[in-house]
Amino acid sequence: MVHPGLKHLKTSVRWCSICNVPLLGEKCDVCGDKGFYLKTRGRTDLRPVFEEERKLILEVLDKQYGSGAGGKVLYDGHLMLANKLFYVDQAYEIISDGRLIGHFFFDVYIYDWVFKPVEYGCLRIFKNLGIGFFKEGVKKGGGLKITGLNLPLEARYLPVFGEKGVYGVAQLTGNGEARVVKTFQPILNEEETKPSGLEDVLKSNLEYLRRRESRAIVFILRLLNRIRKPTCVSYSGGKDSLATLLLVLKAGVKPKVSFTNTGIELPETVENVKKVADSLGLELLTVDAYDGFWKGLNVFRLPSRDYRWCCKVIKLIPTARLYRRAFPGGSLTFVGQRALESRKRARAGSVWRNQWIPESISASPINDWDMLTVWLYLLYRGVLNLVNKAYFYGFDRIGCYPCPSCSIGDYLLLEKIHPDLWSEFRREILKHISDKDLLSLKYHLWRWKRVPVKMKKVVGEVHSRRLEKYVVKDDGVATCLVLDREIDEDSLRELVKTLGHPAASYVLNGNKVVFKLENKNRKMISIVLRAAYCLGCGSCEAWCPHEALFLNRDGKVHVDETRCKGCETCMEKCPVVEFLLPF
Ligand code: SF4
Ligand code: SF4
Ligand code: SF4
Ligand SMILES: [Zn+2]
Repeated sequence: MVHPGLKHLKTSVRWCSICNVPLLGEKCDVCGDKGFYLKTRGRTDLRPVFEEERKLILEVLDKQYGSGAGGKVLYDGHLMLANKLFYVDQAYEIISDGRLIGHFFFDVYIYDWVFKPVEYGCLRIFKNLGIGFFKEGVKKGGGLKITGLNLPLEARYLPVFGEKGVYGVAQLTGNGEARVVKTFQPILNEEETKPSGLEDVLKSNLEYLRRRESRAIVFILRLLNRIRKPTCVSYSGGKDSLATLLLVLKAGVKPKVSFTNTGIELPETVENVKKVADSLGLELLTVDAYDGFWKGLNVFRLPSRDYRWCCKVIKLIPTARLYRRAFPGGSLTFVGQRALESRKRARAGSVWRNQWIPESISASPINDWDMLTVWLYLLYRGVLNLVNKAYFYGFDRIGCYPCPSCSIGDYLLLEKIHPDLWSEFRREILKHISDKDLLSLKYHLWRWKRVPVKMKKVVGEVHSRRLEKYVVKDDGVATCLVLDREIDEDSLRELVKTLGHPAASYVLNGNKVVFKLENKNRKMISIVLRAAYCLGCGSCEAWCPHEALFLNRDGKVHVDETRCKGCETCMEKCPVVEFLLPF
């Protein structure tokens, strides 16, 4: 079923110049103005810039253009919005007064936050601070010889102007030289705008929000009618799941709330989940991966963007277990997922079945919402007090704090807000990178198995530092497997039973096992790996279709050979096999 609103997926926003607010609907509800189209680069998914982040941007501007410069580029009391840009680290377009002011990004070359003024940012620096370089008709890439300007040492970018106004920005390259990195239509002046805040945005977009809300509620009600299963909201502690929860409540349903604590959540998230469930009087179902991430590091080593073993081990498997226990016949689970977040999410659509919880149906009533709509909706419902505090500290996304998807900017913020969590994580990173590889720590290169070209340009060629966990030697007669740890004898004996009869013969000696088994090497290697690296996650137990396998009290796998049919499901669903078996 396609969400009725998907065709309205918003990729452009207009601006009411009278009220000085963005318009998500057709016209401004306060003055009736239709506004003008806002110019953004790429996909438009705006979010408000909150106080802490605003302070950081102002500080950076002060550093670059002199004390007090920030307030002359970004006006006090004027709403600021950020739109994510594609870059090797965190980067946003900054929009205020309906104008593009500049790009705020973590510059990996100089390892600091930088503000690159663009268009109206250049005009304001030129007009309000008197900083700029006069040169007519320079094209992008053109070089400039800068003379007679007394710029702070931290200055990185310089507006370039001609008779018709500012028309470009040049990057200072040292020794009094600069290169034009961007040109645009000349801007001579800007009209004065009045201060505005999120409350004003809400007033101008009320009709639009009401429409979005009722469309989402119709979507929820249709599903509730069609799928007669217990209703649940998967709550992550983020703003999107809060909006989803409010919509489900507004639809007249009192859902259960589920939360998977990965064990690597920000404390603000754990606190928020409890607070939301308590304040709304809802039953909270939680599952905890405890120290699964830290234990998993010893087996799988650091996760990376292209090696997300943890998503399986500390998210999917515990969640699947929770749902199987709480909703044996399945559930209708509402999730705060938005198409604009990623291509994968866009592809998933508004209703889908999670292959790890096949009995349940998942649905997102906000699949076609943009970020600004979500924020305005939370304001509209008067629940900003229920929003996870971490957003207001400057975190853009809420999730596991050591996630390889995070940017360097995120880790620096983590270090500032939670130095204890950062140092614990730092210690772990250091265990998994070689002594000489401190570059990997600084730039968090461990986030990729294959470091992207853009990052290689910054740090140079990177050599793989991932160590093999085991070696397999095959001489044509027997196979010998040598691991970096002891193989658990009891677990091996149990798991071998799943190979069927006659039981495989093997010789075990500490971390080494030799076996001869025609055509079954892959299976035998899987079993040895499971016996040595089992995390006790219970995925095999949950998936065995014949109830032949269970975990003992000590977390070790036990197989009842009278029930086992050798179907291999337990092997397919084991994260150790998925992430450690190379073929
Ligand atoms: S750290 Fe990132 S990749 Fe790992 S479980 Fe959390 S969200 Fe998934
Ligand atoms: S999943 Fe299949 S192979 Fe594994 S224990 Fe159960 S019946 Fe045996
Ligand atoms: S053998 Fe079972 S409990 Fe152990 S890691 Fe694999 S799936 Fe998890
Ligand atoms: Zn207006």
